[in-house]
Amino acid sequence: MGRVYNFSAGPAVLPEEVLRSAAEEMLDYKGTGMSVMEMSHRSKAFEEIMEHAESTLRDLLKIPEDYKVLFLQGGAHQQFAMVPMNLMKNRVADYIITGQWAKKAYKEAQIYGKANAIASSEDKTFTYIPDCSDLPISEDADYVHICHNNTIYGTVYKEIPNTKGKILVADMSSSILSEPVDVTKYGLIYFGAQKNVGPAGVVGVIIRKDLITEDVLEGTPTMLRYKTHADANSLYNTPPAYGIYICGKVFQWIKDQGGLEAMKERNEKKASILYDYLDESKLFKGTVQKEYRSLMNVPFVTGDDALDAKFIKEATERGFVNLKGHRTVGGMRASIYNAMPMEGVQKLVEFMKEFEQNNIK
Ligand SMILES: *Cc1c(COP(=O)(O)O)cnc(C)c1O
Repeated sequence: MGRVYNFSAGPAVLPEEVLRSAAEEMLDYKGTGMSVMEMSHRSKAFEEIMEHAESTLRDLLKIPEDYKVLFLQGGAHQQFAMVPMNLMKNRVADYIITGQWAKKAYKEAQIYGKANAIASSEDKTFTYIPDCSDLPISEDADYVHICHNNTIYGTVYKEIPNTKGKILVADMSSSILSEPVDVTKYGLIYFGAQKNVGPAGVVGVIIRKDLITEDVLEGTPTMLRYKTHADANSLYNTPPAYGIYICGKVFQWIKDQGGLEAMKERNEKKASILYDYLDESKLFKGTVQKEYRSLMNVPFVTGDDALDAKFIKEATERGFVNLKGHRTVGGMRASIYNAMPMEGVQKLVEFMKEFEQNNIK
């Protein structure tokens, strides 16, 4: 069996070129006689891998000098805790609740201080992004937290919230590198790698340097202090070395594709193939309000659970896999990250049209 079209929300499809290149270097990385997996993280070869990953990411996102890039572990979930532990100086933070991940981050922050839900779209099952132009930002809030792209529900912020001068912290796990980002608008950005960037096991953090301090909540473990990792350039302990190596290759691949402007253009084109069809289909329909549609995660339904199940089964047989919606939402979800080729979406839509013809009453 050849490769399938993998619409998984994460871990997700990686660029085939990256996988081939990693395969070629598997047994002997650039004449070292060993795999990157077998290499000391203090070696010259790995030092170069790390340096290349960071500089390529910096280049893509135009990350200014006053921001530090960290490659850590523990996934986005660990950032749900690390953010308050390190940034909640007044023990107050504001959270905008636009989906399950946003809510989980909010719940975690409640362990450490007063987390306020200052806006939410839960009233309409997270099918939109609330108006964030004039929110009741807490006067003593240490930061405002958002989940930029809602992987499960398929919504994205088209405009970032007005935080009234407070630090903006964003979970960009499922949108990072899908389009350009003005990093200077954020105090901290974090992203689990396994959606758009690389294999599971790496979480990237882009943090403004003045936010890296010794002044953290009492009891914060050494490993959960940004300063520990910043001072050691992400080499305080053994990093997720192979994962970082693959991330570096993905960053390079994006650069070779023309960078983030080109990625955005491609992603918009790709997403519109699917959204345009959903808008005209008599069988399938998208589940979120049009103006907040994500370029990365596209949930849709037929409105009939049995028909949804039939679609997922037949799609799988045809090599379109992992189209089942999140267990809490049902229906279908096509995750069409950077590495999903245009052709994958075109063929999926062709198949959906065929399915519609055969199943419309
Ligand atoms: C997948 C995802 C998470 C969870 O990531 P882990 O690496 O499993 O902790 C958090 N936030 C968003 C937006 C996600 O898409």
